[in-house]
Amino acid sequence: MTTTLAQPPVFAADDDLSVWPGSTTRLPHEGLAVGGVDLAEIAGRFGTPAYVLDRGEVRERCRAYRAAFPDADILYAAKAFLSRAMVRWIASEGLGLDVCSAGELELAVTAGFPASRIVMHGNAKSPHDLETALRLGVGRIVIDSPSEIAQLAAAVGHRGSQGVMVRVVPGVSAGGHSKIRTGTEDQKFGLSLTDGQAHHAISRVLGQPQLRLTGLHCHIGSQLTDVRPYLVAVRRMVGLMARVRDTQGVVLPELDMGGGHGIAYRPGESTLDIIALSRRLRAELAEACAAARLPVPRLIIEPGRAVVGPAGVALYRVLSVKRTGERTFVAVDGGMSDNPRPALYGVRYAPRLIGRHSTAGTRTATVVGRHCEAGDILAADVGLPGDIRPGDLLAVPVAGAYQLSMASGYNLVGRPPVVAVDDGRARLLVRRETLDDYRARDVGL
Ligand SMILES: *Cc1c(COP(=O)(O)O)cnc(C)c1O
Repeated sequence: MTTTLAQPPVFAADDDLSVWPGSTTRLPHEGLAVGGVDLAEIAGRFGTPAYVLDRGEVRERCRAYRAAFPDADILYAAKAFLSRAMVRWIASEGLGLDVCSAGELELAVTAGFPASRIVMHGNAKSPHDLETALRLGVGRIVIDSPSEIAQLAAAVGHRGSQGVMVRVVPGVSAGGHSKIRTGTEDQKFGLSLTDGQAHHAISRVLGQPQLRLTGLHCHIGSQLTDVRPYLVAVRRMVGLMARVRDTQGVVLPELDMGGGHGIAYRPGESTLDIIALSRRLRAELAEACAAARLPVPRLIIEPGRAVVGPAGVALYRVLSVKRTGERTFVAVDGGMSDNPRPALYGVRYAPRLIGRHSTAGTRTATVVGRHCEAGDILAADVGLPGDIRPGDLLAVPVAGAYQLSMASGYNLVGRPPVVAVDDGRARLLVRRETLDDYRARDVGL
């Protein structure tokens, strides 16, 4: 166990820690502690690269959602980050879970998560996904394509009964990048509201006695920082619910508005205000339902990134510094194999030197990974001390979501460990991937 006492602030007030976990404190020599543990000590003890997860920050974020949405079901989107400890934390905070594969589902259920509080998504669920969902008794399956209806009904069998929702594309374009916009017809998810596909699928589901349609689902995109697209979407979804009532005589009790709540990766960036979202979304929902003479359905939301993203910090060791003409490349011991997001979506981060006081002025540098790809850039054009050198430690805040869950085995570098910090203690949640792990899978010699 590692314990570090926080020291009073010793650095300039303009040194912005606003995107760091709320528990972050300053230590002498530009050190930082998260969850009461010195990050440099974690790097020394567990090696680098390493991911630190602030358990208290996850807890606070779950509680903030429950306080903002007291009458809604809040499902944590497991794809943002999943481990068995995370499953336990989510369960103990009273959230449900949203999964999109048999693997995520089985990990959660075998770690003790109640299957009835899990929703399974996926634009292309495999027979194994569906079989696992039915075997484990998942609460809802979200139907995402017409062919899934008969397939699922057959798998459930005549005597069975499975709760399902239908994923609707409400025709709202929103999200931080084209690769994470999922509310319009030009992407692979869901059934269109405007061309009648969603309505057609709903009537077919209602014709299958073993499928219990509990409501409609939409997820318009990710990293949204504006409430308004959700308001447009909720109005359209209520419009469809009213049509289902009018044409099928069925009043659907649930409405799942998905996740996508945006967070700040760098100081000064905007975040989605979940209190404003709650207030305005619920008001819009009530108003639209009143106008359509529908009872207000139970609201479901599915935040992933906003629960775990700001709770994570990635730690890297600088391996080399190269100055070429105009540019300085700071290469670290991780990269696109533990964080593909900059290469995928052009995401920007704010890395910082920790554990060494530098008197050199700030210079512009590009932090790159160690992989054999020129696109292996972690943070382009960031300010770092001009004397940055091999052996230095870099910490990247807001590293909790869609990094390790998207990590790969590229170059056999090995995926980093996950270390939980809380109350001055550090605990290994997931160990580092080793060459033996690769060798164990490589059975073809
Ligand atoms: C990815 C996803 C989420 C979570 O999105 P965040 O941006 O992490 O909040 C929720 N619901 C569905 C269906 C998703 O695909």
